[in-house]
Amino acid sequence: MKISKIILYDEPTVPQIQLKKLEKFISETFPIKVETRENFFQDLNESDYKEIANTRIFDLKKSFQIHNPTVDEINIENQNKDMSNKEEMTLYDGFELLKTISRIITTDEKALHIIFTNKLTCTFDENDFRYHARVLIGSNPVIISTTGAVEAPAKPKQYYLDLMTDFNKERIDEIKKKYKGEFLEYDDSRLSEVIEGYLLQAIMYYETGDAFCEHKKCRLFNAHWQKDLFFSQIENKKLCNKHQKIIKELTNQV
Ligand SMILES: [Zn+2]
Repeated sequence: MKISKIILYDEPTVPQIQLKKLEKFISETFPIKVETRENFFQDLNESDYKEIANTRIFDLKKSFQIHNPTVDEINIENQNKDMSNKEEMTLYDGFELLKTISRIITTDEKALHIIFTNKLTCTFDENDFRYHARVLIGSNPVIISTTGAVEAPAKPKQYYLDLMTDFNKERIDEIKKKYKGEFLEYDDSRLSEVIEGYLLQAIMYYETGDAFCEHKKCRLFNAHWQKDLFFSQIENKKLCNKHQKIIKELTNQV
């Protein structure tokens, strides 16, 4: 394998990630040393926080333009507040954020750096001229957005239709209750298992240049629906034959 070491950076506001469990999962799957570190976004310089705040996006239908952040916006980055409880979500341009992260990681450590964050990372799609939420960004370093795992794969169509027909708070809570369990929520205990799949995708992408599989019965399946995400990562929880073989070859188990 190209990598011999992976460094996982925690997102302390999302304990459901269960970093130690993920560390175990990787070392059981690959002959790779795993190190866990604290939140990547803590104890940075003021200028780093400003640069991160620069990558915020406000208009989903316009490609990236550098944002001039307010002092408050810079401070939010500094305190790394829990954004999952906020009604309004902050969006970031995933590739711009990745550039900043790459610049900050200056060590020549030969490792794959995987950064967990609750920031919602989005990428601009030139085909439909709008931003889309994404879970995985980059190759090394890689961002895995836990908010992305909740927000990027779509919820059942009927859920959106139900929401559209009613806007009052009470009714919205009722609708959320009705669909409970059908999609990931912020405090979901299944998040760690779902993230295992994204970790596999990140590692495979770095090793082979190919992250995804077209088969739902494979943990490398790129789920666009929450329902498929649950199927691939929780119900089925296996790799397809082809990818089992590729991983065996990568790890010299053949
Ligand atoms: Zn596969």
